[in-house]
Amino acid sequence: KVPVLTIDGPGGAGKGTISSLVAERLGWHLLDSGALYRLTAQAAVKHGVSLENEAALASIAASLDVEFPVEDGLPCTLLEGEDVGRAIRTEQAGERASKVAALPQVRSALLQRQRDFCQAPGLVADGRDMGTVVFPDAPLKIFLTASAEERARRRYLQLQEAGVDASLSSLLKEIQARDARDTQRSVAPLKPADDAITLDTTRLSIPEVVDRLTELLAQ
Ligand code: C5P
Repeated sequence: KVPVLTIDGPGGAGKGTISSLVAERLGWHLLDSGALYRLTAQAAVKHGVSLENEAALASIAASLDVEFPVEDGLPCTLLEGEDVGRAIRTEQAGERASKVAALPQVRSALLQRQRDFCQAPGLVADGRDMGTVVFPDAPLKIFLTASAEERARRRYLQLQEAGVDASLSSLLKEIQARDARDTQRSVAPLKPADDAITLDTTRLSIPEVVDRLTELLAQ
């Protein structure tokens, strides 16, 4: 059986960075499930489909034409052949993703596609419901958290580095609004699986978290 490590948690807890570093260290595949919700929203906007039209969004999700090739050593995200790597990373794209992710038909349309990422020698699955819904039998489930203030601060530094103007207080408000939507929705709300290990990264560096996860996997 192919081993799966699930890493769930709220936005900005460092799941993306940690998941890709752990996958790289282990030589395992990586599933960035949030990207699939972001891409569904992106495709809907591109084709003029309303973000309220659940049936149409589910059919977009089911037939999503996406590829994740590595070009010049860098991972790319292609939607219908077009590089949308940057476009799907904006705050607005995250906001739209969390809207389409609240629709049950969209979630079920993406379920099998996510499970298809589970291939030898192993998979690191990053998301909100990896341990609770998509890979309930995963032998190791991690719930990565950090205080909302710390997550806002990390996002602020990231944006500064990218030369983007931002305000710490409005980032904090956005993070709190997204947390509320992700934890309060009726389908697959964000919560740790019963058998998940919660890791609070507020005071941990990235290498410390990667080491801790590698230790847990070796146990
Ligand atoms: O992780 P990321 O910020 O890319 O996810 C974008 C949005 O997609 C999240 O706010 C969440 O609403 C949704 N999502 C989800 N289930 C997942 C991954 C992401 O509902 N497994």
